[in-house]
Amino acid sequence: MNNWIIEYDDWNPKQHPLREALCTLGNGYFATRGAMEEKSADQYNYPGTYLACGYNRAVSKIKDKEIENEDLVNWPNWLFLTFRIGKSEWFDLNNMEILDHIVRLNLKEGVMERNIRFRDDKKRETTIISRRFVSMHDIHMAGIEWTLVPENWDGEITIRSGIDGDIRNQGVKRYKDLNSNHLDILEKGNISVNSIFLLSQTKQSKIKMVQASLTRIFDDKREIQCLRTTTHKEKSVWQDIQIDCSKLRPLKIKKLVSIYTSKDFAICDPYNEARDKINYLTNFDEILENHKLAWERIWSHSKIEIETENNELLILRLHIFHLHQTVSKNSIGYDIGVPSRGWHGEAYRGHIFWDELYIFPYINLHMPQLARSLLMYRYRRLPQARLAAMENGYKGAMYPWQSGSNGREESQVIHLNPESGRWITDTSRLQRHINAAIPYNVWQYYQSTKDMEFLTSYGAEIILSTALFWSSITTYNNKRDRYEIKGVMGPDEYHTRYPGSEFPGLNNNAYTNFMAVWVMQCALILIRLFDKKLINELSHKVGFSEKDIELWKTITRKMYIPFLDNDIIMQFEGFEKLKELDWKKYRKKYGVTMRLDRILEKENDSANNYRACKQADVLMLFYLFSSDMLVRIFHQIGYDFKPGSIPKNIDYYHKITSHGSTLSQVIFSWVYSRSDRKGSWNSFESALMSDFRDIQGGTTPEGIHLGAMAGTVDLIQRCYTGLEIRDDVLWLNPRVPAEIKEINLHISYRSHWLKLKINQKKLWIEFNKGWAEPIEINVRGQKRLFATNDVEEFELI
Ligand code: BGC
Repeated sequence: MNNWIIEYDDWNPKQHPLREALCTLGNGYFATRGAMEEKSADQYNYPGTYLACGYNRAVSKIKDKEIENEDLVNWPNWLFLTFRIGKSEWFDLNNMEILDHIVRLNLKEGVMERNIRFRDDKKRETTIISRRFVSMHDIHMAGIEWTLVPENWDGEITIRSGIDGDIRNQGVKRYKDLNSNHLDILEKGNISVNSIFLLSQTKQSKIKMVQASLTRIFDDKREIQCLRTTTHKEKSVWQDIQIDCSKLRPLKIKKLVSIYTSKDFAICDPYNEARDKINYLTNFDEILENHKLAWERIWSHSKIEIETENNELLILRLHIFHLHQTVSKNSIGYDIGVPSRGWHGEAYRGHIFWDELYIFPYINLHMPQLARSLLMYRYRRLPQARLAAMENGYKGAMYPWQSGSNGREESQVIHLNPESGRWITDTSRLQRHINAAIPYNVWQYYQSTKDMEFLTSYGAEIILSTALFWSSITTYNNKRDRYEIKGVMGPDEYHTRYPGSEFPGLNNNAYTNFMAVWVMQCALILIRLFDKKLINELSHKVGFSEKDIELWKTITRKMYIPFLDNDIIMQFEGFEKLKELDWKKYRKKYGVTMRLDRILEKENDSANNYRACKQADVLMLFYLFSSDMLVRIFHQIGYDFKPGSIPKNIDYYHKITSHGSTLSQVIFSWVYSRSDRKGSWNSFESALMSDFRDIQGGTTPEGIHLGAMAGTVDLIQRCYTGLEIRDDVLWLNPRVPAEIKEINLHISYRSHWLKLKINQKKLWIEFNKGWAEPIEINVRGQKRLFATNDVEEFELI
């Protein structure tokens, strides 16, 4: 069974956009979609090259109103490579009889291969084997190699190799009425006889990018000197290279590309760097080899393997692959956050959401230095978050629901419902719970690394500033003698306001209220942990006083959480009063009901009227906290929540959730893992396949869903192993579904590397040679201290 290669062995234009997104190659600095080299954008093919956090703002006019959006920019297309025989038409699969078409994505090596054999109208048969990579070793390099074989003809051909700057953001149909023009082409031309460059710049953010390309032709191993002409069009530049071909004699075309931008470090200017690179680093095979070695290193550290009947491992690896392509060790030090849709397309404009919550657990336990760097993206945006809090009448810092270049709120104000064609007011920015996800990530990073230096210098400021925000957004309800949070949205985006209300927002979303308590409790832990001097410094920076600390103490004992019959946590106050939805009717009429909100809006109704959820909301609590922790926090707030209520809550919400977000099945898989292993596995399978099968019917071509991808990896990593970090102990309590024979994984924990092997009966722990203090591991109540090279076996039954 091959579990390293994703293979598509047919030519299926309709499937191409999905395959193109899934075959994206990237290195944590930039990414390029798996589009065809020989074609520019059309109905099926969409070349996209995106720089991590390379944004630009543009104003559009919609319904006579000017709105400004910040987009992840699609940069000039460096893939541009085509050919023609004699004076016939340029190569286009649409005009050919396709004899073979195989695309392979090699996850182990980070190489995409296309193997195409076709016949033209003159019965000439040609094979092209194309190999492509975006270097993981040198983030500024990428390359394509074509092996072109004339199967039954001889003659002169022209190779056209260039950089196409005639690019707009057109990857998401719903955005078509918005301004998509982000680039100016400033300069282009030759660098040397066989190399060219193109300098582009974003219109508003003024980010410069230089792409330089070198194309060399080889007959077997011998380089051939050919006649070349360089052409500049208004926005593009290319070289036409003439060569004589002989029947069955393979010709190799090797195109290397170097990319530098004005956001890079340790550069003079992007042009000089790209030019030098392309002048001196000319050995395609060596650059490719180094790239493969970089991937080998990644896989040796990131081992997460499962043995199952159905080769789920392949898709799991696809997810790990895209994670590293989006953010990798190469991203460290850059001002980059984790985008919810990868740098794989234009959906959600490359913005950073709370999806980090699903992604950090993998990064914490594999690349802690990267986790730290990604948290710095948030730390640097504290000033904007403070401004937002102030503008909205709150204290502390209020992070935006969608974040981009400088951390201002980037959520749209209106969005298009493609079902009805209507523009709808977008209130998703009311998802204030992002201000719990960020401090939660800070704390989890600290728990798995004990990086006190980060906590004291940066992390604490995030936790304390968000705690201050939470205490200032709560209001005291006299009648209840409890604190409340009003006018927000929870994770479930179907509910934006009360039925018929003209005001957006809901009261007392249970998840939000509970998380607000958690943040304030965490702030109180810091107050106890740090010395007086540090607390004084932090209180000046953050702006909290003794009074605020007292308020945190009170709110964490008196926050209101809505319940039904003291048992079921209500998603928000009044949720139980909403109408029941006739799911059967909608399933019958529309089949898939994932986007029920759009369907109902089209029918002049609203999801707000019903007890129907897009995604896990209340159940997020059972994902983020063990039942012990949950019960402890509930007791502190003054609610007698019993672990026995957990399955009842899961059941209640299971019946009314449509899984309109790919994040949802990850949570269901997690929360079912103790009580219903089969159910957990089914949800795991759905989450695992969500991008590969594009289960939302068209969203994956616009960008992968990184939260769900990382979430499935984390289900293996933490959920099925029962891995938890609490009270300075690494807890392991495996609950392996019957479908998994064995789990093998490596994790990094507090400067140690650990190997874990788990099957239905046993657990093995092996310690690599570490350099840190011994650590305590607790396997189902059996405590052990682990130090360098220790190995131990535990019975699980
Ligand atoms: C989900 C959000 C998520 C966003 C970005 C939405 O569909 O409802 O929870 O953050 O997508 O992935």
